[in-house]
Amino acid sequence: MRYAIIGAGLSGLTCATEIRRADPEATIDVYEAEDRIGGKLLTVPFESGPTDMGAEAFLAIRADATAYFESLGLSKYLVSPSGLRSTVYSGGQLHDLPTGGVMGIPSSSAPVAHLVSADTAARIDAEGEAEAIDWQLGQDQSIGRLVRERYGDEVVDRVVSALLGGVYSCLADDLGVRATVPQLAAALDALAQTGEKVTLSAAVARCEAARPQRKPEDKPAPVFAGFEGGYAVVYEALAEASEADIHLDAFITGITRELRGYRVSGGEEGLYDRVILATPAPTTAMLLRAVAPEASASLKSVKLASSVVVGMKFNSDAGLPEKSGILVAADEPEMRVKAFTLSSKKWPHLGQRGGALVRASFGRFGQDDLVRAAEDDLVDWALDDLQKITGFDGRDAELSEIYVQRWFGGLPRFDETHLTTVDTVRSELVEVPGLEVAGAWAGGVGVPAVIADARKAVERLLE
Ligand SMILES: Cc1cc2nc3c(=O)[nH]c(=O)nc-3n(C[C@H](O)[C@H](O)[C@H](O)COP(=O)(O)OP(=O)(O)OC[C@H]3O[C@@H](n4cnc5c(N)ncnc54)[C@H](O)[C@@H]3O)c2cc1C
Repeated sequence: MRYAIIGAGLSGLTCATEIRRADPEATIDVYEAEDRIGGKLLTVPFESGPTDMGAEAFLAIRADATAYFESLGLSKYLVSPSGLRSTVYSGGQLHDLPTGGVMGIPSSSAPVAHLVSADTAARIDAEGEAEAIDWQLGQDQSIGRLVRERYGDEVVDRVVSALLGGVYSCLADDLGVRATVPQLAAALDALAQTGEKVTLSAAVARCEAARPQRKPEDKPAPVFAGFEGGYAVVYEALAEASEADIHLDAFITGITRELRGYRVSGGEEGLYDRVILATPAPTTAMLLRAVAPEASASLKSVKLASSVVVGMKFNSDAGLPEKSGILVAADEPEMRVKAFTLSSKKWPHLGQRGGALVRASFGRFGQDDLVRAAEDDLVDWALDDLQKITGFDGRDAELSEIYVQRWFGGLPRFDETHLTTVDTVRSELVEVPGLEVAGAWAGGVGVPAVIADARKAVERLLE
């Protein structure tokens, strides 16, 4: 069998590895437009050691992901975070992130009382008495709009957008409830289905009640994990395990179907029995044009959000707060940074290098000007905002290394139409045997979701 995989990001490399595991004799060509593998996983060789400039962690409570990394022989690289808390900068001050609730959305005012006005707190507590939400089973809607309507703007701008923005590079207004917080959508469905009054506070309370109770003596398992050596250990291990021919600088411009297989324009001569497109949504739409015009047209509606990561290594960390990260409220005036990861505080293995390692992130959906800003400006803004928020003077602390990574179209926008679009594309592709799609837009943006989606795509392909 001859397989072509377009894209050597996490998804494409996982697909290649899974095909190799299922079919040791397969000929696998992976085509990658860039001059490197990894896509949104990028580990940069800082003088102080390998440092991630794209993804830097994964949800370790996803046992399937941890098991997958173990199957690649990567257990020895897995590291846990320090457990220091993250904070949110709002109203000119650092605050603890709310505990409980779902994605910062509370079931009562208590968890967010330190972040919102008395009026908003009263509104949250009275929400259960307001008119019911007109919620249709299975529907999706903007999470920003829903929370604004029920609890007011402060909860959205100070908490929900800050938390979701860290994952999706979008404001809550640009994201769907079901697409990004499916357990909340399921709770809204459950209320509607059982004929109970559908309110936001009741739905959040349902999510809270469904959470497994921990005994006080139980030590909480770390929610996240990362890799000593950075994500390079993952993409290099996948490339090796796949034993695929990986073609770099190979921009694929089209796929056509012939009687005996698929032709890949920009790839090797000859036909492929099976093809997987593991590219971002707009590229996948472009590549599907000839083989699946309807799926291609549907997929065009997926928009991408861009961002920039500025990695900074300082010789001293004196004065940096004992926190793992800072999210900046979306309504905070004059702040350009949307989040700081205090990497050397968050990850003990990075802290051991000495000094401070900080990642500043800029840019949410629609803020492309920020993403295109000059490198010097981005570094200045990062240093200024860090000093304003924490008092840490990065210029005084000797900035010894800087790396600026722009992620144009880094993440798909999971808005309220997204899941329907994915379903539509998938059902249209059922008619096209031997062709699969995979990637962050299809199965979810987190590393465990991308791996799970890629594995399912290969299962379908080999059925
Ligand atoms: C800044 C940032 C931070 C993140 N942090 C985390 C995190 O901490 N934890 C987490 O779980 N997730 C995180 N994510 C999300 C996660 O990294 C991504 O969802 C995931 O890596 C995407 O993998 P993918 O293979 O689907 O796509 P990509 O990585 O985009 O791979 C697609 C590949 O296809 C190639 N390609 C595109 N067009 C063509 C073409 N025409 N021909 C050939 N090749 C082509 C691209 O060059 C690319 O290499 C982060 C994302 C970003 C942007």
